[in-house]
Amino acid sequence: MMVKHYRATIRGAVQGVGYRPFVYALAYDLGITGTVKNTSSGVDVEVFGKQKQLDRFIERLSSDAPPLAKVESVDLITLPSVNQVRVPNTFEIAPSHVESEQSAFITPDSSICEECLEELFDRSNRRYHYPFINCTNCGPRFTIVKDIPYDRPSTTMASFVMCKACQTEYETVSNRRFHAQPNGCPDCGPTLSISVEEAQRSLADGEIIAVKGLGGFHLACDAQNEKAVNRLRASKHRWGKPFAIMVADLASAEKICTLTDEEEKALFSHQRPIVLLRKRPDCNLPDQIAPRLNRLGVMLPYTPLHYLLLANGPSALVMTSGNFSDEPIVYADDDAADRLSPIADETLTHNRPIHMRCDDSVIQVIGGKPHFLRRSRGYAPLPIQLDQPVVQSILAVGGQQKNTFCLANNQHAFLSHHVGGLNNVAAVESFREGINHFQKLFEIKPEVIACDMHPDYYSTQYASEFTELEVIQVQHHHAHVASVMAEHRLQEPIIGVAFDGSGYGTDETIWGGEFFVADLNGFERVAHLEHLLLPGGEKAIHEPWRVAAGWMYAQLGDDWVDQNILFCQTLDRSKWNLIQQIIDKDINTPLSSSIGRLFDAVAVVSGIFKQRSVQYEGQAAIELAALADPTLTEEKYSLPLTDSVIKTDQLLLALLCDLKEKIPNEIIATKFHNGIVEMIVSVCQDLRTVYNLNQVALSGGVFQNRTLVEQVSNKLACSKFEIYLNEKVPCNDGGLALGQIAVANAHLIKRKLCV
Ligand code: ZN
Ligand code: ZN
Ligand code: FE
Repeated sequence: MMVKHYRATIRGAVQGVGYRPFVYALAYDLGITGTVKNTSSGVDVEVFGKQKQLDRFIERLSSDAPPLAKVESVDLITLPSVNQVRVPNTFEIAPSHVESEQSAFITPDSSICEECLEELFDRSNRRYHYPFINCTNCGPRFTIVKDIPYDRPSTTMASFVMCKACQTEYETVSNRRFHAQPNGCPDCGPTLSISVEEAQRSLADGEIIAVKGLGGFHLACDAQNEKAVNRLRASKHRWGKPFAIMVADLASAEKICTLTDEEEKALFSHQRPIVLLRKRPDCNLPDQIAPRLNRLGVMLPYTPLHYLLLANGPSALVMTSGNFSDEPIVYADDDAADRLSPIADETLTHNRPIHMRCDDSVIQVIGGKPHFLRRSRGYAPLPIQLDQPVVQSILAVGGQQKNTFCLANNQHAFLSHHVGGLNNVAAVESFREGINHFQKLFEIKPEVIACDMHPDYYSTQYASEFTELEVIQVQHHHAHVASVMAEHRLQEPIIGVAFDGSGYGTDETIWGGEFFVADLNGFERVAHLEHLLLPGGEKAIHEPWRVAAGWMYAQLGDDWVDQNILFCQTLDRSKWNLIQQIIDKDINTPLSSSIGRLFDAVAVVSGIFKQRSVQYEGQAAIELAALADPTLTEEKYSLPLTDSVIKTDQLLLALLCDLKEKIPNEIIATKFHNGIVEMIVSVCQDLRTVYNLNQVALSGGVFQNRTLVEQVSNKLACSKFEIYLNEKVPCNDGGLALGQIAVANAHLIKRKLCV
């Protein structure tokens, strides 16, 4: 009798995630014989059996893959049928060559799985209450890998020698801990510095504790304890910026927030991101956790230690990243001792080192889909699949704020974890180390560098260090639009709407309210917001009243200060006189077409934002957005387009009118949002008529604004546009690097074709 014979190559994140044991079990289940092994490109199987069984086997290779595996493709080769007598009668895991495992993907860290969680709280289990329990389906990965191949000796677990019991699990194919590199137990694995009970007592006493997590330290305190929350703010020098909360389970999350099904799914996913949820009106947490905002950043426990800490502990913990003001999250123990000890009363750490820092990811669900505010732990370093292979390997170095970088070869764009603002020595070091680490992990030596055009970005300066390599500069907003195009594999010209805080324009002014007709090769700036003044440059971003004053002055002239509104009444006239002088003499007063700055100005003029300076990036705009509610009114401020420029004069006059009539803030915020939505739709309609384009890509940090995105998407859809948003990377500057890769590659492809 003849037996069917297939060979299949499975590509993707399929190593170190229990994929081979899964294949083994699957083959056994279906009565198929043959072999499975790791190779340089993924996992290879060679199988023998009946047609029906083989078909089912092939199908289930991707559909039933273990939780952490990410199957990208299954390439099948049908080999000639074999006589029964020559078919192997078992299925085996064949040994793989060490060097052949090198280009397999390093997978992201994962939250503890259901089975490990059960064992954690099972008194009869040998790992009962063991804070480092893990298996091939869960636990640390990216953050403990020092080098490739992904094997225990090249992880931070190298110094822990497995005990006999653990070693046996590690070597047994049918065991859930077969080749689980971080495997360990109370006898042989990592240990805590203080007991969980001690830490819980400290929390109950209102203390702040530093807790070592997967990718760095958190600063934690009892979220119900107002005094502790305030003390944490004061010592961290973090005033207004919201704190993330960790709650024990979904039921506890529902006590403080309302959740949609999609939000529940996101919260509970093994990536365990922070999810922005609508705060319940009866939420009993102190307001200082997220001042003046209607959303809370909530996450569920993701390490066994978190679960232990929250079991019979506080119902909600503040879990904010362990850093001092803008510096990167602290991940090393000696650093924690130095930098966090002035803030934390107690440190709950352990002796399993973190090799790569990795912040919590942050998402919000809009229109039923998760959108990243930060793509980091749980997602990085999984690659984004590119439409076309890159011609040469490219390193894109991203922007200055919310930095991520991206390394691409073949069809893979390995977007980094969140590096953050490159504004201090520690951040810059972290950026450089991260790039070196990624080059090593993915064995990519960049041949081309892509960067922003802003000469003052640290990332741009870093790019220029590669004197021997070609450097391709990509305009900031083009990169934003291109990030959407790369994600959705768009090739043809589209309408690109790039709204953000600021980015360097080709005319050397600051852009940020841009309509492009663009493809990956280039763009035409077809409309933009009327210029606002930024008196004092960078300072105007931190002190939005400067932008507001400059706007009113430009529109109304000298008398603007006499307007009968709170902003003018409370204005520091002597400060204004100085500002007026630098505007009049054109000293350090750049022009900007940024929508983000217009949000700031409106927040200030309306009296919604009253402070002199913002406490975190975009605060004034975010507080304005928090008040907008489209169910309140359909009225809108008008932002007409004249000669490719979006005018703001009518907006200001109508706003002043409303303020004098004491129209409530919520209505004003809503009318402003409605106006922006109307403006986007109407400009897109104009562009459709002129350029005959129907696809619209929206990107840039302003589109983190949920109300805006929901409204714009609805209205554009009503006008029969095809709408594309960022779904795989953040729409803020955290997604720039992907756009830079796409543009640089288009450039390389075009040049190759021309030669
Ligand atoms: Zn597990
Ligand atoms: Zn052990
Ligand atoms: Fe930007």
